[in-house]
Amino acid sequence: MEEKYIWLLLIVAGYILFVYFFSRIGNKREIGSRRLFWLSLFLTPLLGFAFFISSHHRKMIPYTEERFKCEDCGYVFSEEHDYCPFCEKEGRLNALKQVDMFMT
Ligand SMILES: [Zn+2]
Repeated sequence: MEEKYIWLLLIVAGYILFVYFFSRIGNKREIGSRRLFWLSLFLTPLLGFAFFISSHHRKMIPYTEERFKCEDCGYVFSEEHDYCPFCEKEGRLNALKQVDMFMT
């Protein structure tokens, strides 16, 4: 093999390696590292980076949702009731306590 082909091969290999490491930042975004890898490989990392920027943060930020819990039977309702419907059937009136559920 001629020397210039070896150089070309090295450049291509280095490019793929660079794209591979670059695409790992996509893990933290919705785009994902695999998609970012292929995008960057064929459309250059510059465009891949543009996709990365426009891609939303992966929805891993926990958020809370309003729930209503019966302290007696422990059941959690997503809608508000005056009294726990389950306990009410058994003749007990238990007011629901508003809680913030941790969602992921
Ligand atoms: Zn209850």
